[in-house]
Amino acid sequence: MKILVFNCGSSSLKYQLIDMENENVIAKGLCERIGIDGSKLTHQPEGKDKFVLEQPMPNHTVAISLVMEALQDADHGVITNTDEISAIGHRVLHGGMVYSDSVVVNDDVKRVIRECFDLGPLHNPANLMGIEACEEAMPGKPNVAVWDTAFGMAMPEKAYMYAIPHEYFEKYSIRRYGFHGTSHMFVSGEAIKFGGLDPENAKVIVCHLGNGASVSASIGGKCVDTSMGLTPLEGLIMGTRSGDVDPAVVQFIANKENMDVNEVLNVLNKKSGVLGMTNGISSDFRDIENAAKEGNHLAEVALDAFVYRVAKYVGAYTAAMNGVDAIAFTAGVGENDKATRKKVCEYLGYLGVKIDDAANDVRGKRTVISAPDSKVKVMLIPTNEELAIARETLRLVK
Ligand code: AMP
Repeated sequence: MKILVFNCGSSSLKYQLIDMENENVIAKGLCERIGIDGSKLTHQPEGKDKFVLEQPMPNHTVAISLVMEALQDADHGVITNTDEISAIGHRVLHGGMVYSDSVVVNDDVKRVIRECFDLGPLHNPANLMGIEACEEAMPGKPNVAVWDTAFGMAMPEKAYMYAIPHEYFEKYSIRRYGFHGTSHMFVSGEAIKFGGLDPENAKVIVCHLGNGASVSASIGGKCVDTSMGLTPLEGLIMGTRSGDVDPAVVQFIANKENMDVNEVLNVLNKKSGVLGMTNGISSDFRDIENAAKEGNHLAEVALDAFVYRVAKYVGAYTAAMNGVDAIAFTAGVGENDKATRKKVCEYLGYLGVKIDDAANDVRGKRTVISAPDSKVKVMLIPTNEELAIARETLRLVK
């Protein structure tokens, strides 16, 4: 059974075709600059040469029809016709308070995606376009929505309610939702399996540290808290996002810099994080690390603050769960940067966390990186959101 996975952004689209017999990727690719001059499809079939097509893609429907042609092409294709595809899984950013689980798309589901446009203004419209383009390209084939917010829906009220007038929750569903849910679900599940933990009761903290970054706490795979909020802006320091700030900062900057609220929020989303803290060196953690190695003080502070905030969240979530059995690191920084993993864990000595430096000297590979006598198992678990979406899709259409 083959499942096609789509992750549609506002001007880009990523896809993978996965053979669910062995979970191998048969082909993957990317359409860039959809709706903009210079559209480009890069298609990578497994075991064959890469295929690049530069052709106008005015919208997602055109992009998806080009992907379907590439998948069936005589030279660089991997299937003879679309009958070989059993279903299509879509990453959908926001399901509001309606969906706490993946769902086969029907008109009601599309209505909810549409109703959540203002909660996910960049992603939800693109996600819906992707679904509708697939319905057009492959009529009758099941499409499954896998929500980035679904994992966080298990949070209890005490974790998801903001201490603001309740009428805003009632009128506008303003609450904490959490994001990166597919990654947190996948990594916490894999950590339980790989660490040989109790699937019903294991207390797991996942540190998803990439350009976007978030921490989650879960018991038996069910989220009890996660660091992103109504939007992905809350929580950790990220590549360009500030994470937690006193909301009064918004008013202060607006008054001093003569900006409106939207402009300040744009600063907090796109010009802050390690990029902003270093006066614009980079949003890429490798560049910040290189600058810090060369003695740049702002880069040193940005990295220290990043690690410090991760450690504070781990401490808070350990308290929230009254203990922790395992901590898993994932995403670009979490999977590749042993120094960050070690520095976070150095704050956690009080929990009996001990890192094995030799085991921690690893990149992108499932590994237990704690010492045998560590009271908490610490692991590197590579995330794989596409596979998680494909598994969810298979579960619903089987
Ligand atoms: P992601 O958003 O998960 O793709 O992660 C991207 C981030 O991971 C970027 O900021 C990269 O700089 C960072 N990253 C990738 N490899 C390394 C590495 N070896 N050391 C530090 N950061 C890394």
